[in-house]
Amino acid sequence: MIKILLVEDNRGDARLLREALAESAGVRFELAHVERLGEALRRLDEEAFSIILLDLSLPDAQGLETVLKVHARASHLPIVVLTGTENDELAAEALRKGAQDYLVKGKVDGNLLGRSIRYAIERKHAEEEIQQNLRRLQALQEIERAMSTLDLRTVLDVLLKKIDFLVPHSATTVRLYDKTTALLEPIACHNIPEQEWKSEAWRGGRGVPNIVFQSKSAWMTPNLQSEPRLRDPEFFRRNGLVSYLGLPLIAKDEILGVLSFYTKEEHRFTDQEVEFLSTLAAQAAIAIHNSQLFEEVRSSRDAMEQANKIKEEFLSVMSHELRTPLNAILGYTEMVRDGMQGPVNEQQQRCLEKVLTRTQELLTMINGILQVTSMEAPRKTHLQPVNLNSFLDDLRSTYEFPSDRQVKLHWDYRDLPIFETDAEKLRHILQNLINNAVKFTPQGHVAVAARYVLERHRMEFKVCDTGIGIPPDKLPIIFEKFRQVDGSETRLYGGVGLGLYIVKQYVEALGGKIDVQSTVDVGSAFTVTLPCITNALRAPGGNGIAA
Ligand code: ADP
Repeated sequence: MIKILLVEDNRGDARLLREALAESAGVRFELAHVERLGEALRRLDEEAFSIILLDLSLPDAQGLETVLKVHARASHLPIVVLTGTENDELAAEALRKGAQDYLVKGKVDGNLLGRSIRYAIERKHAEEEIQQNLRRLQALQEIERAMSTLDLRTVLDVLLKKIDFLVPHSATTVRLYDKTTALLEPIACHNIPEQEWKSEAWRGGRGVPNIVFQSKSAWMTPNLQSEPRLRDPEFFRRNGLVSYLGLPLIAKDEILGVLSFYTKEEHRFTDQEVEFLSTLAAQAAIAIHNSQLFEEVRSSRDAMEQANKIKEEFLSVMSHELRTPLNAILGYTEMVRDGMQGPVNEQQQRCLEKVLTRTQELLTMINGILQVTSMEAPRKTHLQPVNLNSFLDDLRSTYEFPSDRQVKLHWDYRDLPIFETDAEKLRHILQNLINNAVKFTPQGHVAVAARYVLERHRMEFKVCDTGIGIPPDKLPIIFEKFRQVDGSETRLYGGVGLGLYIVKQYVEALGGKIDVQSTVDVGSAFTVTLPCITNALRAPGGNGIAA
């Protein structure tokens, strides 16, 4: 049965059309006739028609405006335009504006009319399908774009909004399986009162989506309200939800949850719809899976950062507490060594010397830990003009003490500029590199060199040794916190693996970089390069070149 709405103000024409319709073979129809557009629009709101026959010249609307208004009110409805004269142009324009066919009044017979009606309905149907496919394609593309985000909220928001657009008059929900509660938890919904849906009483049910979850396959019912497996049909009755389609959200063979569709009118989901929505569900599942992975990584990173913070706080407090008694040990031992508590023989003195050296090493270590753990300290710099020649003379003098080690120190610098830098940090950097070089060179020599590289406006400091060297695979780790080439309990050399970490932090705070070249059993060379562009003042008489 085809339900026709005829909009025609000329009663004679209306009668002729009705007669033609009665003649047309194969069209079983029911006709409603109105004379004005206003009335037609009202009827369209109230009833469902299969087609509208529309005169283009009405008392309350003329020409194309008529088509546009009908189309705006009922875009799904096929329109056959009726023109009084042979106005081809107007008819063609009407087709462009949304009508499916046109007929010239006075030339209509039963066959022509019947054919036109069937053709218009079919054409509209085909157009709708194309439109629907286009919308689906677009929506899939948009969803795919949105799915690349790793934020679960955004993924779900886009998904639910697009579904609303594609499956009109529906409500959608997403439940995800929570491993800790072992339940399908309500996560997001659209077109359902969220609070009520998520509320405690309802949570107990988890009803139909569970069927989908258990079977890991699509499940549907045309009428939820009479579904015996449903614990709380009242909820659906209250919200006018009738038919149901549930799809499993599966990614990498693992079921993550259930995507549910509810329609407000009884609806049998077609194979095509199920196929399309399943594609959507598969896409959504991948996005959900990715965002969950990302969430896991982020929270384990947060936990690691938190653990690191606690470790650093602990180290900081511990080091601080250790420093006080160590200073007391140093002070008292010095007093005893210097004979302030009575005479000390040579052997005792040597022992006390050892105690003092070891204690001093311990203090250096603890200071290192404190420096690393007091977070902002390494980054702050106090720049001032430094006369590098006197600075290095001074540094060199601290190494001019007799030592039982068979390591010789060579110094190579002259005519260096006055250079704006943080003297304390620079001293710390060089001392650390020199101390390491001495420490890791059982015998041989350590060379300290400094030069101003004029063409690159750089200061370059080099500390080379003929020591044990560093294996290539260990080179990347030596600048990391608490990392040593030999991390074993039985390692030969002392230290806690903080020295180079602090050195690197300081070098970077001064805007420079540090490089290392090393060969096992041959030696290592550390090079620190610092920029000296703006404040590179020259020391009197210096030419900036060192040997
Ligand atoms: P540590 O307190 O252990 O010396 P560092 O951060 O100063 O810590 O150095 C890290 C590691 O790098 C050392 O434990 C050592 O294995 C290696 N290293 C540093 N300097 C040298 C060097 N000149 N020769 C050989 N190995 C070195």
